[in-house]
Amino acid sequence: MKTVAIIVPCHNEEAVIAESYRRIKDVLSSLAYPSEIIYINDGSTDKTRILLDNIASSDPHIKVIHFSRNFGHQPAVTAGINNCTADLAIILDADMQDPPELIPELLALQEKEQANVVYCIRKSRVGEGFFKRISAKMFYKIMNYMSEVQFPLDTGDFRLIDRKIMDEFNRLKEKGKYIRGLISWVGFKQVPYYYQREVRFAGKTKYPIRKMLKFGSNALLYFSKKPLRMVMGLGFLAVLVGIILAIWFTLGKIYGFSNAETGWTSIIFTIIFFGGVQLITVGVLGQYMGILFDEIKARPEYIIEEKRNFQDLSDQ
Ligand code: UDP
Ligand code: MG
Repeated sequence: MKTVAIIVPCHNEEAVIAESYRRIKDVLSSLAYPSEIIYINDGSTDKTRILLDNIASSDPHIKVIHFSRNFGHQPAVTAGINNCTADLAIILDADMQDPPELIPELLALQEKEQANVVYCIRKSRVGEGFFKRISAKMFYKIMNYMSEVQFPLDTGDFRLIDRKIMDEFNRLKEKGKYIRGLISWVGFKQVPYYYQREVRFAGKTKYPIRKMLKFGSNALLYFSKKPLRMVMGLGFLAVLVGIILAIWFTLGKIYGFSNAETGWTSIIFTIIFFGGVQLITVGVLGQYMGILFDEIKARPEYIIEEKRNFQDLSDQ
């Protein structure tokens, strides 16, 4: 009999934990599969820790990992996958925007299609602002244009993955993990499942714009070398403009249609333009160097302070 684990990253989710646990538990108890939940407390500073510890004490099927501080959503999900021993895992947000009630359908689809991944595509998003919707759409379009791997549009980390995918994922050595991209990249049989994303049950989003931008730029840098080619293109363009201007002004001097002494505007324009091109190029290079720097240091992606209830499912 296959075992199922639900991986739930939590950062300051005191407002949703109790209800989310109740709803996930309701769904799991209706399943034929032996199941467990793995909560990752990503350095919460509110009551999340106590709430999770209480749940773990009263229910041995609930595993909890406490991080030593806030490492971020992707490291939290990574820790969940790394510490999962079940045959199937479903990655789910704590805020119930991705309804736990869909779990049986995901499992049924996996079984029917014999899929290694069932990735969930958002048909519509209720309650997400115009900016979030537009920026998400643009982000996935840009990602697909830039990256060598094609990603399904409008998916989050909400998905079902099987043991094969988890084993391959655990072999990946990069520290900056863009999980949904890496799971696509791993390959095997991946099938879509369409659903409607709900409103956050309670509490505020833990992804402010600053984190979203970092998440997006990391994803791009880890999956694409195109920005480097693009700035090189910009360099060539700048050289071309330089050559055209040089010819224009030389001929102008000879034939008298351009007086170099009144060329203040064009000089300033040229300086700013070339300066800009150089700064952008150095900036893009710098971003990749920053990634190399982080990867070479090879610090762990997360540090675990405590693990609760981590005995094998079959022992219980
Ligand atoms: N999260 C986390 N660490 C962080 C930020 C978020 O573990 O540093 C968790 C959060 O608790 C939630 C999930 O990641 O379960 C998604 O976050 P959120 O719902 O705030 O993002 P949104 O749905 O608004 O994009
Ligand atoms: Mg959310």
